[in-house]
Amino acid sequence: MSGGTFVGMPAFPEAAHEAVGNTTLRANLRHATHTIRDKRARAVAELDDWAELRAAGRRVKDHTLRHLDRYLVQLEESVVRAGGTVHWAADADEANRIVTDLVKATGESEVVKVKSMATQEIGLNEALEAEGIHAYETDLAELIVQLGRDRPSHILVPAIHRNRGEIRDIFAKEMAGWGRPAPEGLTDTPAELAEAARLHLREKFLRAKVGISGANFMVAETGTLVVVESEGNGRMCLTLPETLISVVGIEKLVPTWRDLEVFLQTLPRSSTAERMNPYTSMWTGTTDSDTADGPSTFHLVLLDNGRTDTLADEVGRQALRCIRCSACLNVCPVYERAGGHAYGSVYPGPIGAILSPQLRGTQSEIDASLPYASSLCGACYEVCPVAIDIPEVLVHLRERVVQGGEATRHGTKVMLKPAKGHAAERAAMRAAGLVFARPGALRAGQRLASRTRRLHPRTLPGPGRAWSATRELPKVPAEPFRDWWQRTQGARSKGKGNDA
Ligand code: SF4
Repeated sequence: MSGGTFVGMPAFPEAAHEAVGNTTLRANLRHATHTIRDKRARAVAELDDWAELRAAGRRVKDHTLRHLDRYLVQLEESVVRAGGTVHWAADADEANRIVTDLVKATGESEVVKVKSMATQEIGLNEALEAEGIHAYETDLAELIVQLGRDRPSHILVPAIHRNRGEIRDIFAKEMAGWGRPAPEGLTDTPAELAEAARLHLREKFLRAKVGISGANFMVAETGTLVVVESEGNGRMCLTLPETLISVVGIEKLVPTWRDLEVFLQTLPRSSTAERMNPYTSMWTGTTDSDTADGPSTFHLVLLDNGRTDTLADEVGRQALRCIRCSACLNVCPVYERAGGHAYGSVYPGPIGAILSPQLRGTQSEIDASLPYASSLCGACYEVCPVAIDIPEVLVHLRERVVQGGEATRHGTKVMLKPAKGHAAERAAMRAAGLVFARPGALRAGQRLASRTRRLHPRTLPGPGRAWSATRELPKVPAEPFRDWWQRTQGARSKGKGNDA
């Protein structure tokens, strides 16, 4: 992502190595992910038709992505008809420029934000700050991250890596520098922490003239945007400011309200394990602010930033079905141990491992390492409410990293160079390919391996040592299968042939 937040991150193995050694982080993550995953399993088990809902969600998303060009135009017409303005942003820089200019045009120097992954993806806060505009996060977890000068580490619970004691310390130390200070003698009880955040944020809500949001969904037929949330901060951001600017990835589209119905059932159960979201805010265009709640000026910035390129990949495009429920993070054994920061992106966990390398390309060290940030156990696929086969995309991207090959960048086909560090693997695969293509060579190789089997090392040498240290290498049999077959079954069938 072009925002400065994650620039210079080391590749996943190094970043994860550091995180794995942090026992507090591991304890926080284990407790949080296990709690959420167990609740989710119970919430999903309540529905007899979960499998049908999952299949329907997948179908709706695939259909929409196949006809995205048509539905985006329909959405634009609907938004304009309802009084809004639509802007198209090809990449992060363009989106940041559009939003910054829109805020400047209002004459305001501060904005309130409802949690939005798209604006984090493009580094909007940093871009606004560079122009002297302060962006205040209003989601409780995002507030903790912002006050702690930290980075989000989970899609749904961005401060999952913090415990209550750490949050208390951040509030007590930092709130005064951003507005209303934390109350004297603040403790780490959830009610007191929530009250401190409420008081701190309320003055910002009541003062703000500009709100910035993302959206969970956009409905093409009416131009309606939807935000689902648990705290009510989103409702305040969406209804109080006179100007609302929504930055939304182009894949967040559904054609009709009937399609939306599917996701309003699957998203809350998959994410917060609730039967429905506490707050589901929907807005269509503008309102007359003298007589009704809601913005009198509304801008929708439709963000591409690598999504069209992702759509061009037949295997990888399924990542665009994602509804950001975070269920795959909570069941992932790698995420549970490494935490979200190791993924070097606003999208951590299994979905981040397939989405970031597609949105950003696999040329950087961190992006080339992400498809390997998985044990391929398949737990992510099992829980995904839109049935994204994450292991399939991971293997596909690994192939791209090792082999290079064709990909689409900025709408143009490009040949990618193989990533560095896979020379031995490539040589081994090439050699295997040559041998398997020649039956005579394969037979000679198998006989040689059988005859020399007592000399075989128990672990691989060089870079393969770490890999084989925790795995048992298969034992080579004393006689290759083909020879055994010929000696036994082959001889028998020959005998049968003679009898006949
Ligand atoms: S990939 Fe599936 S499980 Fe993971 S966040 Fe997206 S929708 Fe949820």
